Amino acid sequence: MNIARILYPIRVLGPGNRVGVWFCGCSRHCSGCSNPELWPQDPKNEITVSRLFSLIRQISISNPIDGFTLSGGEPLEQSNALSELLPFLAQISPDILIYTGFTLDELRKKQNKAIQNILSHTAVLIDGSYDEARNDGCILRGSSNQTIHILNPYYRARYQQYLSEQNRNQIQNFTTPSGIISVGIHHRGFSKPESRKGKNHE
Ligand code: SF4
Repeated sequence: MNIARILYPIRVLGPGNRVGVWFCGCSRHCSGCSNPELWPQDPKNEITVSRLFSLIRQISISNPIDGFTLSGGEPLEQSNALSELLPFLAQISPDILIYTGFTLDELRKKQNKAIQNILSHTAVLIDGSYDEARNDGCILRGSSNQTIHILNPYYRARYQQYLSEQNRNQIQNFTTPSGIISVGIHHRGFSKPESRKGKNHE
């Protein structure tokens, strides 16, 4: 896999204390994307599925994990590895939220075993390309053309409550050895200083 970062606890991209995983690689190149540094894959970010899961399991030993938020980059551009990873994550928490530029309809139409396995392990899918002109502060979404699909009915009430409690999107800053990483759904026109490489929307 090609993974840019793992952060915990993420509290601004879904309910509870979550592990966030940012995938490298996105061929979509949406105008206004605040993570263009994640468009290419980087050989130094290569990691095996088992190593990634081992790192996450280490977090889970001494910290509560209420769910996972997978973003990027485009997680579905690494569908085989993602398909392999999700059953392991589900052992810790099946509340797995994935941001993707694909639409749910596009994914459902793909005759691809890995993608169908991903959908079967996804609690919530937030789909569609980021549209800068439609970045209007909608909760959990970068732009209003994107849809929050609650695929696992067990989590419907949890997410409905979470969404109803949010007045606006929040930002979390993490200090890391490589600088400050700003996480959350950022406003339209957000531009990152060099030291604030993070994630805004899908
Ligand atoms: S907004 Fe998401 S889908 Fe669009 S270029 Fe950025 S990472 Fe890719």
